Amino acid sequence: MKVIKTIKDMQALVQQLRRDGQSIGFVPTMGFLHEGHCSLMQRARKENDVVVLSIFVNPTQFGPNEDFDTYPRDFERDEQIALKEGVDYLFYPSVEEMYKENPSVSISVINRVDVLCGAKRAGHFDGVATILTKLFHIVSPHRAYFGKKDAQQVAVVHGLIKDFNFPVELVAIDTVREEDGLAKSSRNVYLTEAERTQAPVLYKSLRQAVEKINQGETNPDRLKEIISANIQAYTSAEIDYVEVYSYPELQPVTTVTGQVILAVAVQFSKARLIDNLIIEV
Ligand code: AMP
Repeated sequence: MKVIKTIKDMQALVQQLRRDGQSIGFVPTMGFLHEGHCSLMQRARKENDVVVLSIFVNPTQFGPNEDFDTYPRDFERDEQIALKEGVDYLFYPSVEEMYKENPSVSISVINRVDVLCGAKRAGHFDGVATILTKLFHIVSPHRAYFGKKDAQQVAVVHGLIKDFNFPVELVAIDTVREEDGLAKSSRNVYLTEAERTQAPVLYKSLRQAVEKINQGETNPDRLKEIISANIQAYTSAEIDYVEVYSYPELQPVTTVTGQVILAVAVQFSKARLIDNLIIEV
């Protein structure tokens, strides 16, 4: 595995790979890798000649009061994990390498961002779309791998690829969970011991709502009540949102039908956690 730190080197390399007819699978991450990231790398390994992993904690997708400075980082550990997963190239640029001063162009996401995390985290998806536009131009992947844990991100990236005609196939991967159901996340390390025991309630309450749907419940408000009541009863977290929307359109539904997403975000003392289930009714 080769670590690449400059845009120039990365671009020269992928141009050569493309000339050689190699297919390129790309896994963009912010590092502090866990099994969720590994499942993306494994799928990319299966489907491509070459796997490129990027690790970049992207400042433009963090709000002023968010956790950019304290976001967990451990490059040496990440390097070992990437090596074990068969990554060929690890793109690891600095913030200065990725963002020169005084940018001339900004990207603004105008669809699917007025709800869920987009509504709560102003500018977050503009930052995501900006960094992915840059990374797609730098890595020139045939396929890019994203986790459904960040389901709104998948919906936004889908729009970005389509609207800006990136010749990239989006591959969305199921959420990898701990044995007790908690979705794996780099931010789980922020949980206190007590919060860690409460956190699986997010997934359990989503599952409970899905069971209600299977029993015939079609009222989204009733489902939201079930999820919220569970989280309030069994965790110390503050609910950021509990929503039921059509997916991937992210439009409100009056009756649960077709493909829908049940999504939650909560704030524990230090960790903001999100989770969702996407189901076909
Ligand atoms: P991050 O490093 O948090 O930006 O995540 C990088 C990629 O890994 C994103 O596409 C995430 O959706 C995906 N990812 C994060 N956690 C999980 C998980 N538990 N299961 C599957 N994919 C995940």
